[in-house]
Amino acid sequence: MIRKAVFTLCLLGLGAAAVLWLRPRPQPPCVILMSIDTLRADHLGCYGYARATSPHIDAFAGEAVQFMQACSQAPSTAASHMSLFTGLLPPVHRVTNTHARDHTTDLRPLSPSIPTLAETLKARGFLTAGFHGGGYVSPEFGFGRGFDLFDHRQVRWDRLWHDHRQLEPIRAWLARSRREKKPLFLFLHHYLCHDPYVKAPRPLVERFLPGPSPLPRWRRDLPPRLRVDETTHERFWRSFDGNDESHRRHVISLYDAGVAHADFVFQRVRLLLEEEKAYDRALVILLADHGEEFWEHGDILHWRLFRESLHVPLLVRFPDAAMAGRKIAAPVRMFDIMPTLLEHLGVPRPAGLQAASLMPLLRGDAPAPAPLASFSNGFAFARILDRGFVYSNQPSGGTEEWLFAAAADPLETRNLAGSAHPQLGRLRQAAAALLKQQEKLGAAYRGGSAVAGMDRELRRQLEALGYL
Ligand SMILES: [Zn+2]
Repeated sequence: MIRKAVFTLCLLGLGAAAVLWLRPRPQPPCVILMSIDTLRADHLGCYGYARATSPHIDAFAGEAVQFMQACSQAPSTAASHMSLFTGLLPPVHRVTNTHARDHTTDLRPLSPSIPTLAETLKARGFLTAGFHGGGYVSPEFGFGRGFDLFDHRQVRWDRLWHDHRQLEPIRAWLARSRREKKPLFLFLHHYLCHDPYVKAPRPLVERFLPGPSPLPRWRRDLPPRLRVDETTHERFWRSFDGNDESHRRHVISLYDAGVAHADFVFQRVRLLLEEEKAYDRALVILLADHGEEFWEHGDILHWRLFRESLHVPLLVRFPDAAMAGRKIAAPVRMFDIMPTLLEHLGVPRPAGLQAASLMPLLRGDAPAPAPLASFSNGFAFARILDRGFVYSNQPSGGTEEWLFAAAADPLETRNLAGSAHPQLGRLRQAAAALLKQQEKLGAAYRGGSAVAGMDRELRRQLEALGYL
């Protein structure tokens, strides 16, 4: 009798063990943060663009929460990405591009006293890997801190069109996370939309510029160098006359081919995640550090505080597509992503963050964190959105300051600053006070010395992007 009972218990035990073994074991969290440098929100189909630049990102938007009015904290790569990585505003973290147009020459790495997103996740046991495009996202500025690997050579995003093996290093990290049962944070970044817009594959360029053209379409069409040190960026822009409407359209078409290229790359990453059975459980975030100007306010590129440089895509796909298809109309700040993903993961946020989690907004518990503020490279100028008005004190093209009615004039075509508008004095004071307050806060973190001895490779990358 006893033997029979023991035998039955053993059988039950084996059965229970088998059930436990067969039950799908929970996979560790996987966070994919993809930053597409220089991607304007309004050149994506899911943000209303008429041209078919982004079929794959549009499909992804249907599975994600889409923030319709996300605002970057700076119209430049280093400052904006560092806000994303630290949850601090640019005048506080003090990391910026060098840019002659902003009279900024000081390359400053992040102060060691400021924790980064990767460091925070690493401390909680995450594997952390960054595959980036170099330039102003380089380790010299502090971006590599907290990453097990932070590299711009292993994944050559520009070669992916012809060589699908480029993503194998990412596959290896997904496999390692699975094997070691450790959560994974992947930061992915590239410059395929950044000028000079001659990086897209031929079929994509021909999709947006079908006919023959005397203007350059690929790198090999660029005019010969005027000087030995003339950059590709300079040769590109020397090819176009900004006063000629057909030239402007041509430039925008080349940019759109770059957006389509980024869309292709995003889809390849998504397919890889699906192949590795990581997509459904992953938290996937797609965003941009800033947009790009195409003569809307008389100039090009990204350095000024206008909507076209600051309105960025922000798409968050939660695991198992929770909240899929939700569109959030309230204005939000791109750098709020750091506390948002930390809250979602249950990871405590570092002290002193200026950014705020968007989770209460998504739960319907609270309005969007406000106010919106962006800062130009030199930290001397601010743009604020307050009570329906956008104000910026960044002088440019002979105009000292800018005031726009946000709802009535979303494209910022009518500057009200010259008309003794009743809001002007209040907003001018608010922007000055904000700059002063942030300067004070930033002083607490000072102490980082200028980047010592920029190496030849970093100089080459910055030259290629037109910064030096
Ligand atoms: Zn950038």
